[in-house]
Amino acid sequence: MSESDFSALRERMVVEQLERRGIDDQRVLSALRSLPRHAFVLDEDRAFAYEDRPLSIGAGQTISQPYVVALMTQLLALEGNETVLEIGTGSGYQTALLASLANEVHSVERVETLANTAKERFDALEIPNVHVHVGDGSRGWPEEAPYEAILVTAGAPRAPKPLFAQLAEGGRLVIPVGRKGGQILQRWRREGKTFKREDLSPVAFVPLIGRHGWDR
Ligand code: SAM
Repeated sequence: MSESDFSALRERMVVEQLERRGIDDQRVLSALRSLPRHAFVLDEDRAFAYEDRPLSIGAGQTISQPYVVALMTQLLALEGNETVLEIGTGSGYQTALLASLANEVHSVERVETLANTAKERFDALEIPNVHVHVGDGSRGWPEEAPYEAILVTAGAPRAPKPLFAQLAEGGRLVIPVGRKGGQILQRWRREGKTFKREDLSPVAFVPLIGRHGWDR
């Protein structure tokens, strides 16, 4: 498949899967129009990269469905000057999207092979403002806190406590919370000493494994 074939599939993805389902943040839509999702999937899956579903990326993990990536990103309401923390680098696709919409992204991945592959992709695509860390992201990444936005891309039994301490004033935390088989997307917002929660769509993510997540 040529780059222009991928580009046509990408445009169709944006119109049919995202705009039609209510994604309306123009910065998010425009970033997704130019981000080559086919560069973040396994070679044998490149032809399916723009389909309306998650795909396997190895190590038992997945790259999320485009709509879910767009929805979670839109919920963070990024304007361009934020420092963002992402938990669960996976393929790096969501990370690259955040990097194009914010000032700096710190992304934590527990599987080292996935973190390394994602780093190679950021280098190849010349994305300079991403820092990948290997470790248990359920503890957050206190070294670079506070963050104006925190995105967790794995399902947790509850929102991990350390993430609240690492959220800046006015900051947003988006996280799937629930059982291993299915979760509700939650958005938390810090207002002084209080944290306001909204429960949004049902989603199904692989588990967040770690000290403040699920046991291995
Ligand atoms: N956002 C990714 C993308 O665009 O490809 C998809 C992420 S995948 C659904 C979830 C990722 O979270 C997996 O790569 C998994 O290894 C990682 N993960 C699970 N528990 C973690 C933890 N405690 N810390 C960091 N990463 C974790």
